[in-house]
Amino acid sequence: MDATVEAELLGGVPLPALILGADERVLALNPAAQAVLGEAALGRSLALVLRAPDLLQAVAQVLAGEGAREALLRLSDDSQYRAHVTPLQGATKALCVLRDITTETQAEQMRRDFVANVSHELRTPLTAMMGFIETLRTSAKDDANARERFLAIMEREAGRMNRLVRDLLQLSRVEAEERVRPREAVDLAGVLKSVAATVRSAAEEKDSRIAIAGAEAPVWVTGDPDQLTQVFLNLLENAVKYGARGQEVRVEIRRETSYRGPVLRVDVADRGEGIDPIHLPRLTERFYRVDTHRSRAEGGTGLGLAIVKHIVNRHRGWLKIDSKRGEGSVFSVILPEG
Ligand code: ADP
Repeated sequence: MDATVEAELLGGVPLPALILGADERVLALNPAAQAVLGEAALGRSLALVLRAPDLLQAVAQVLAGEGAREALLRLSDDSQYRAHVTPLQGATKALCVLRDITTETQAEQMRRDFVANVSHELRTPLTAMMGFIETLRTSAKDDANARERFLAIMEREAGRMNRLVRDLLQLSRVEAEERVRPREAVDLAGVLKSVAATVRSAAEEKDSRIAIAGAEAPVWVTGDPDQLTQVFLNLLENAVKYGARGQEVRVEIRRETSYRGPVLRVDVADRGEGIDPIHLPRLTERFYRVDTHRSRAEGGTGLGLAIVKHIVNRHRGWLKIDSKRGEGSVFSVILPEG
């Protein structure tokens, strides 16, 4: 096959593809491969173009007549490829096709981290409960006082597991529906008032109160009423949990014009410690907490904001977080009108 035919053939391959000669020089490559290997790859030895020992070994084996090989290729920008190397023309040349597996690998890593996190979060309360069951069976068998104390702890730990399972189910439901646009008419003012009523007793325990502005008349938006209730419940619960004792939590609904057109904006503001800016980009990740100990002590699962983010995405809206250390935080949900 002459060089022009080779180049033409590679041009029709929708993946980065290159042909290597017997001396492992790049004889031809398509534009996609050029984007990966660089402009100057043509004519150069593969070893000088890439630092990829596994791929070089696969190429050497193919050129030695050992048949097709696969190799993993990781580039300095952390992108990853699976390289398929096959012999051409009696193994005097090798065809190398690259498949970008970066997203796949990252998704797999995220899945592994998620399973590890869930297992850890479930195991902690479970271990505590098993320890107390054992104690109640043995040393504390006839101790009525200890029994009451231990049962109270076990109830708290079981509650923690229950909340975790509830949030995990909620998250998977929301994720499953994320592409289905909600269609109901929802009165945001009504939603906020009912959420505030739910959170009121927790706020009173911290001598705080919840003030709502802009909810005097109904404020209609297209959405899913249960999910929007969940969003504001999570945000208000957080504002109470992480807000300062004796301080007001302020909720405000207002209409605004964003660069995407008219929107409804709901701010949930607290006067707590605030959040260091380094945490802000990761706050909506599952199980990401600024202070794990505090979150656990407050009964948090670390999933509340992840749920908020997914629901807001489903509503084609966005979540904005503004926070200053020592001054408090404002979580804003911005929803397109209509
Ligand atoms: P959690 O169950 O831990 O509250 P979330 O997903 O709701 O989980 O929130 C993630 C983390 O974000 C919390 O652990 C906390 O560190 C931080 N956070 C959330 N809301 C606030 C807030 N209003 N003020 C300060 N920190 C907050």
